[in-house]
Amino acid sequence: MYRLRRGVLSTFDPRNPLLAYRSRPREDESLLSWMTRLARGNAVKLQCLATDILGFSPQLLAHDLDRLPDEELLGRLVKRVGCTYEQAYSTGMWAYQGLLWFETPKARGPVDWLMPMGRSPHDRRRISSYTTQMCCACLASDPIPYFRRYWRLALAVVCPVHGIYLRDCCPWCHGPIEFHTTDFGCRLLPSVEPMMHCGKCGHDWCHESWDELSAPENLVWFQRQLCQLLVDGWSAELPGAGILSPAFFCGLKCLLQRLNQPGRCRRLREYFALRDAELLFDPCEHALQRFECLRLGDRARLMGMAQDLLMSWPNQFGDIARASRVSSSYFTDYRHLMPYWLHVAIRNELFDQDYAPSQQERSAAKDYLLRHGGTGSADEVNGLLGVASVNHRVAQRKRWNPRGPGARE
Ligand SMILES: [Zn+2]
Ligand SMILES: [Zn+2]
Repeated sequence: MYRLRRGVLSTFDPRNPLLAYRSRPREDESLLSWMTRLARGNAVKLQCLATDILGFSPQLLAHDLDRLPDEELLGRLVKRVGCTYEQAYSTGMWAYQGLLWFETPKARGPVDWLMPMGRSPHDRRRISSYTTQMCCACLASDPIPYFRRYWRLALAVVCPVHGIYLRDCCPWCHGPIEFHTTDFGCRLLPSVEPMMHCGKCGHDWCHESWDELSAPENLVWFQRQLCQLLVDGWSAELPGAGILSPAFFCGLKCLLQRLNQPGRCRRLREYFALRDAELLFDPCEHALQRFECLRLGDRARLMGMAQDLLMSWPNQFGDIARASRVSSSYFTDYRHLMPYWLHVAIRNELFDQDYAPSQQERSAAKDYLLRHGGTGSADEVNGLLGVASVNHRVAQRKRWNPRGPGARE
């Protein structure tokens, strides 16, 4: 059956009638925020929207809906709201594929940059309950307040519009921001619009005035650059982002993970603390603590340090790493992918050892010499491989990080 609506021919499906309150996703709105808004607009609980209206099991809400595209869910929402599939598809974190990630996030396990939602049954300590963030000034200025997709990214620490720090908790009771769970366990819906109220203390995040803290200018500028990069997919200013932005974000994550680590990399934090006359902070308890699980204050400080390292790349990075005496081996992580722009900077700026051929290279060079009339002596092999020999002197690299018995720690 076809009917004319606002001059556009649209299909009408009597099994999936349009909702009484229909609202398309706002700009950069997350799927969970959109669904919560639809439920509140239709005066039903979010769980009712998921089960009675959309026909899913209650288990649907136990998953992180923003993480992986559920085509069935998106399809049913499109039919009930009357928006396009592209509009519905743009609400998930998966739409960052090609901008933030090379591939769509995995169904299970940690995902770079995505603040984790839910608790792991295996290790509760590693999963943070702070799953999203907000800017109260943005919510207050919205004609229809909603939660942004961008706020679920761990790299978001400052509001690019207002230049103030985001909040990862309620400004009054410091409980986590769980806008979608405010009607859980309620028999009746509250008379006030609950999505923008704290489920724990009931304070209004939009209409009460909160003391906001302005972020330093360079951090605001860096955050705006990152936001622009997530739109454009490339940047001429940020290292490694000239062709594909995921290459830059992959390297930024490597740097942040090093800055976050205990052990030798702690010296980088010591350097910044001394330079800026601040107290040293140790955000991580163990080496496996992920950046995404840190609280906003710690992430903001680490982002500020990463921004410092990226200035006039790679000179400032090399100077700071040398001054902190953190050599290339501490930056190298063989378990994770490292983009070439970062690898080459670490190699050129921090690697100060001379070339040392492996045993296989030596035996291959010896075989080659024997096949071509050589004697295969150690000196000949050294000459062929370009390391010091009787006839061949190699200028040694300048050591910036002296090791061995006479080295000063
Ligand atoms: Zn804002
Ligand atoms: Zn609260």
